[in-house]
Amino acid sequence: MLDYEHARHRMVEAQISRRGVRDERVLAALRQVAREAFVDEGFEEFAYEDSPLPIGSGQTISQPFIVARMAEAAEIEPSDRVLEIGTGSGYAAAILAELASEVFTVERHRELASQAEERLHGAGYGHVTVKVDDGTKGWPEEAPFDAIVVAAGGPSVPLSLQEQLDIGGRLVIPVGDRCGEQRLLRITRVAANKFEEEDLGGVLFVPLVGAEGWIDEDDRLSPRQTRKSLPELIAGAAEDLPPIDDPAFGAKFDRFGDRRVILLGEASHGTSEFYRARAAITQRLIKRHGFTTVAVEADWPDAAYLNRHVRSLPQPAGVSLPFQRFPQWMWRNTDVTAFIAWLRGHNDGVKDASRQAGFYGLDLYNMSGSIAAVLAYLDKMDPSAAAVARERYGCLTPWQNEPATYGRVVLRSGYRACEVAVVRQCRDLLERSLSEDNGDLLDAQQSARLIASAEKYYRVMYYGGAETWNLRDRHMFETLERLLDAAGPDSKAVVWAHNSHIGDARHTDMGSVRGELTVGQLCRERYGNKAALIGFGTHSGKVACASDWDGEMEIKEVRPSVPDSVERLCHDSGKRSFLLDFTRNDAVSDALRAPRPERFIGVIYRPETERLSHYIDAAVSRQFDSFVWFDKTSPITPMAGSKGQPGKVPDTFPFGV
Ligand code: SAH
Repeated sequence: MLDYEHARHRMVEAQISRRGVRDERVLAALRQVAREAFVDEGFEEFAYEDSPLPIGSGQTISQPFIVARMAEAAEIEPSDRVLEIGTGSGYAAAILAELASEVFTVERHRELASQAEERLHGAGYGHVTVKVDDGTKGWPEEAPFDAIVVAAGGPSVPLSLQEQLDIGGRLVIPVGDRCGEQRLLRITRVAANKFEEEDLGGVLFVPLVGAEGWIDEDDRLSPRQTRKSLPELIAGAAEDLPPIDDPAFGAKFDRFGDRRVILLGEASHGTSEFYRARAAITQRLIKRHGFTTVAVEADWPDAAYLNRHVRSLPQPAGVSLPFQRFPQWMWRNTDVTAFIAWLRGHNDGVKDASRQAGFYGLDLYNMSGSIAAVLAYLDKMDPSAAAVARERYGCLTPWQNEPATYGRVVLRSGYRACEVAVVRQCRDLLERSLSEDNGDLLDAQQSARLIASAEKYYRVMYYGGAETWNLRDRHMFETLERLLDAAGPDSKAVVWAHNSHIGDARHTDMGSVRGELTVGQLCRERYGNKAALIGFGTHSGKVACASDWDGEMEIKEVRPSVPDSVERLCHDSGKRSFLLDFTRNDAVSDALRAPRPERFIGVIYRPETERLSHYIDAAVSRQFDSFVWFDKTSPITPMAGSKGQPGKVPDTFPFGV
């Protein structure tokens, strides 16, 4: 049983105060109202998550932070009469009821309205009146109001609502193109015929449907005008990049040659340009700048196979071919194959083995292998628990909010029943693969460390959350440190991992709201400006991905980036491919220090729910030292013989089957 009061206080601290809501009365109201009483049955445990939740009729209960921000913006006094449009779950109405003397709330969906009314009165909010109607027309019989709060986004500010404001009254409403996000506006009636408007920032709401709103839930307008000044600033600072296979491409990154660690990101796990660019940069760093460690977001045993291959060392008897489990395409693709072949060729010419370049996996020991084992076990023992597990593993990424997954919560007890057995399986598997490993780095002590943290990880990763993520990123960082130490005091490493790992989490919602840390952040803390964090991004194109964990690889269209996102600003610069070096461009760096949506595509890509599933707020110029841009991108090509790929011929060692 969750301690809701504790969760509520933690929510107010982490999600609300830290994001800048200061009004003590609003904070007190959020600490007071039991949000779990306003979510659907079975969803209670998610009541204090930092996200909207589904509440039926295709609607959502707003994210707690948004409710707080709107309540604060409405500047409600204890004697105020307040009108709310969009009752939904009734949660925001309860918050308003804590702040005002009377609350009137209108909802167009009858079922939602009656359920909310029941909940509100059940919770003792007798001074809230609910009505079923089109709220864009307001509630003329009860007007004027001291404050009006609209919980759905319309194309413009309804005149009826403005007219029902008392003098001095505030109307808080999201307005804008609903394909993208809306702006949260505050309209203050300063005199009978005088209204002042303030823009409080970008938000995302369900549509306001009605006479002075959208025609229906699927109504659409052409995209709003995007801001021009920022794209122009970016265009001015961006350094054009030559084609990736031009040697001049890698040379653009010579400026980072004196760093101890260079972290190269990616905005998806299936984009060819990101792999090829990182290969070109890494080759240059190895050839010209003395880098000898390439450490990637991959399982240790699989990378160890490639490490032996690039050093022309024999493979131990009975070892399996690398990267045979989901998501195979991440490493078993033509771009990685070409890079591995280059690395082997390079090492062939380096006689001193200690100067050869190595290829290592940073991820928690054998993570994909362990997930595969869990799924295989559950498939046998409890297929419904296996289905839930597949979905859960798909959402191990901290930026991903998947309301659909919450819906399966009821089935979760199936996993609990198997957990002990599952963890035991993982542990056996781990011990087996460690005994097969004859790598020169892994001594007995480190094996023990791996076993300890891996077992904990198997246990917590199923349940998700910051603890899982932090355990994993800390492990990745410690492995990187060990690799650097083992290679000597002058050693230098290149890291390949997703933007979500190599960016500094303190400047994204991952860190500031969810308490998550990253390899990139730990590198900055440890190595200061001897670490370079380089993010990658794209506007549109195609990407290799899956719809669920363990699913077939698919090629999906990457949606054009949403208005006001980091990506849309880069796209609007008009440049196709560039390097944006924040350390050399103060103006652009300052302009991009305000948080705005940034896209994260992992192994799983769900374009249908893209805004919710794949964007989080980030201050890009603080998150990274530099940003590499490819406006239009293409998917990686998996090796023939990979799962779902035609052809059995082993075309290129070591990935052929
Ligand atoms: N304040 C709510 C948020 C609900 S989402 C909460 O805390 O749960 C917005 C709600 O606005 C939806 O329930 C939707 O059905 C409703 N809505 C949209 N257009 C409306 C209109 N014209 N009049 C009244 N309600 C509307």
